[in-house]
Amino acid sequence: MEKFDLLVIGGGPGGYSAAIAAGKAGLKVALFEADRLGGTCLNVGCIPTKYLVDKAKTMEKVRALVKSGIFRDPGSFSFREIVKGKDGAVEKLVSGVSTLLKRAGVRVVKGLAELGADRVVRCGGEEYTGENVIIATGSEPVWIPIPGKELCIDSTGVLSLESLPESMTVIGGGVIGLEIACAFAAFGTEVTVVEMLPALMAREQKEAVRYLLMQIKKLGVNVKTDAKMLRVEADGAYKKAVYEFKGREESVRCEQVLMAVGRKPRLTGIDVKALGLETDRKGCIVTDDRQRTCVPGVYAIGDAAGGPQLAHEAYAEGEAALASILGKEFSRPKYVPACTYTIPCFASVGLTTEAAAEKGFEPVMGSFSYAANGMALAEDAGGFVYVVADKATTKTIGVTIVGEGASELIAFGAMAVEHELTLGEWESMIVAHPTLSEMVKEAALDAFGKAVHKA
Ligand code: FAD
Repeated sequence: MEKFDLLVIGGGPGGYSAAIAAGKAGLKVALFEADRLGGTCLNVGCIPTKYLVDKAKTMEKVRALVKSGIFRDPGSFSFREIVKGKDGAVEKLVSGVSTLLKRAGVRVVKGLAELGADRVVRCGGEEYTGENVIIATGSEPVWIPIPGKELCIDSTGVLSLESLPESMTVIGGGVIGLEIACAFAAFGTEVTVVEMLPALMAREQKEAVRYLLMQIKKLGVNVKTDAKMLRVEADGAYKKAVYEFKGREESVRCEQVLMAVGRKPRLTGIDVKALGLETDRKGCIVTDDRQRTCVPGVYAIGDAAGGPQLAHEAYAEGEAALASILGKEFSRPKYVPACTYTIPCFASVGLTTEAAAEKGFEPVMGSFSYAANGMALAEDAGGFVYVVADKATTKTIGVTIVGEGASELIAFGAMAVEHELTLGEWESMIVAHPTLSEMVKEAALDAFGKAVHKA
């Protein structure tokens, strides 16, 4: 039985990044991966969806240029080539991760790892022991048990479609459902989103959500909230998705039905009971803020450990676990930025005005429209930036951006809320011109009536 300092189960963003960092820190590390390195994120999550969204956004831009008379026609496109390009981007990243692991001296073991009560990892007929074990086994799609669910596809299925569906019903108006809905609508698919809750993105800044929904509808996505999917029926080569809306049954005929109702932790191979690991009501492994489970030497990170199901959260939790293992200081960031890659993109970090008031702040909100920003006008981009500050201290406590570049601009917002930038600090900062970033500063100043380019 070979001995290691650290065994990492799962080669997604949480697992591979922790393994690389541990290898670089001089630990003897083995990483077990049952499927493909890169996990959900690289193979069937963040990256392939963003490839699709990027191409969809470009098409929308071209259409806008046709409308303004700059382009004569929108031309045509090949979905097959988009799929090829997506697969190529994924391959590049997966092979990059493999190289990074090799260079960091990490032993990669292919196969389903089993972790039992003795804390020994068994994989491919071999046994491995480790001073420490990180569980980074990720998550998998949730399937609601409606009749006809076998006629549906999940996010992995939609990402492996080889031809463009003429129509698609998306069950679930969460992040994944909305991203796919926008991308396919821009490609020309007729998309209906059926969401059980009365509102989409209920915990986000309301003004920004309102703008986003307007844009999504303009894109042609039909959004049904307060609508409960009842069943899916076969209808020749099509499907009939039947849902309840305002007490009545309604249906939509479509080529594909995407089930996008959330994800649950994947703990295949992990004998949670025998190990004595504590789990929460969603089945996620419970940890402290340094990712320690109740079993000494066993850590859990990423989607398997609950919290925001985001790749960058998985990275951060891997860093926290490794800091615990190495006995290093680690200061956990307070806020996690989150992006929804709709068209346009939506990004937020920190508190909304509502959440800030609930926490006892006296929130003031500044805003700035893309319509008043030079770079946004040069790029024909629309949207809004909202900055929430605490009235008494002038500290920044939340940023929401909806519009072109929101996922990049939010890094600026994350820095501002994490370091609680005050009005004075925003005033003393120079932001390059012309840039979309200028709007973040303007919105922050606007919270105190000091924006320069706003009447
Ligand atoms: P995973 O990435 O799920 O990786 C876990 C790995 O463990 C898998 O490769 C699995 O095969 C392996 N494994 C499991 N059990 C075992 C075992 N017993 N033995 C060996 N190997 C095992 N997040 C973002 O931040 N931004 C986005 O834009 C974004 N877009 C997304 C789009 C979609 C469609 C989806 C589905 C997800 C998206 N996410 C996004 C979420 C993101 O992908 C996850 O939060 C992230 O991948 C979680 O990382 P992880 O390391 O915890 O797990």
